[in-house]
Amino acid sequence: MNKKIGFIGAGKMAQAMIEGILKSHLIPKENIMASANTEKTIEHIEKTFGIVTTLNNRYLARYADILVLAVNPELYANVIKEIKNDMKPASIIITIAAGISLMDIEQLFGFQVKAVRTMPNTPSLVGEGMSAICANIYLEESEICEVERLFHTFSKTERLDEKLMDAVPAISGSSPAYVYMLIEAMADGGVRQGIPRDQAYRLAAQAVLGAAKMVLETGKHPGELKDNVCTPGGATIEAVITLEEKQFRGSITAAMESCTNKVKNLI
Ligand code: NAD
Repeated sequence: MNKKIGFIGAGKMAQAMIEGILKSHLIPKENIMASANTEKTIEHIEKTFGIVTTLNNRYLARYADILVLAVNPELYANVIKEIKNDMKPASIIITIAAGISLMDIEQLFGFQVKAVRTMPNTPSLVGEGMSAICANIYLEESEICEVERLFHTFSKTERLDEKLMDAVPAISGSSPAYVYMLIEAMADGGVRQGIPRDQAYRLAAQAVLGAAKMVLETGKHPGELKDNVCTPGGATIEAVITLEEKQFRGSITAAMESCTNKVKNLI
C-alpha cells in the first residue's frame, strides 16, 4: 500500500496495530510514524518497532495520508484542535476511541473530513484482533476497502451501522478482559485440584481458543455445541447447571451493559 500511516498516541492499542502492520509488510516501516507526549514512550516505540517517531502531532498530521487518533477519548478534542489545520486535504482520519461518534469528529474538525470510526481490540498484537468499522459519507467505497485492508493486517473486520458502535467495546474491545478472568478462574479451579499453575493456564486457554474456533468454523449454534459436550447424567451438565444457578450468563450480560453505559458517558 503506497500510503503513509500516522498514529497520534502510541499506547497499548496503537502498538498492537503497528505490530500487525509491520509483520504483514503491507506498508514499509519508513511509511509509518507515531507521536506521543513523552520522551519515554517515543524511545520505547523507536526501539521496539524501528519506526520514525515525533513529539509533534502537527508534524505527524502533515506527514500522514491515513491518520489514526490513538489517544484516550477525553483527549480527542484537544488533539483535533491542535492538528486540524495541518492535515493533508485528502487524508483519512481513523478513530479508535470508545464513545466518539463520526458526528463528534466532523464537529471537532469543523469541515468535511473523511472519517472512519473503528473499535479494534488488543488481541491484534497476536494477529487475532477483531475491529468493527463504519465510515462517514465522505469516503469512497474504495477508500473504506483500503482501510479494511490495513486493519486486516492485525484483525478481522466487521462493518457495522454507526448506531451499534457504542455496543462494540462490551462485546469485542473490552471483552478480552472478561475472557482473561474466565481463564484465570478456570486455572484456579484446576490448581485447586492439584494441576500445576502453568499447565492449568495452558489447558484453560487452549479450551477457550478451541471453543471459539468451534463456534467460528462449524457455524453451529453455541447452544448446540454446549449440548454436545453434556453427556446425559455426566459431569459437564453438573458444571453447566451450577453456572446457571450462579447466574453466569446474567453476570456477563450485566457487565456488558455497565460497559456500554460507561462508553455512552465517556466524554
Ligand atoms: P494508552 O494509555 O495505552 O495509550 C495512549 C497513548 O496516548 C499514550 O502512549 C500517551 O503517551 C499518548 N498521548 C497522550 N496524550 C497525547 C498527546 N497529546 N499527543 C500524542 N500522544 C498522546 O491507551 P490505549 O489503551 O492504547 O487506548 C488508546 C485509545 O484506544 C483509546 O481511545 C481507547 O478507547 C482505544 N481502544 C483501546 C483498546 C484497548 O484494549 N486498550 C481497545 C479498543 C480501543
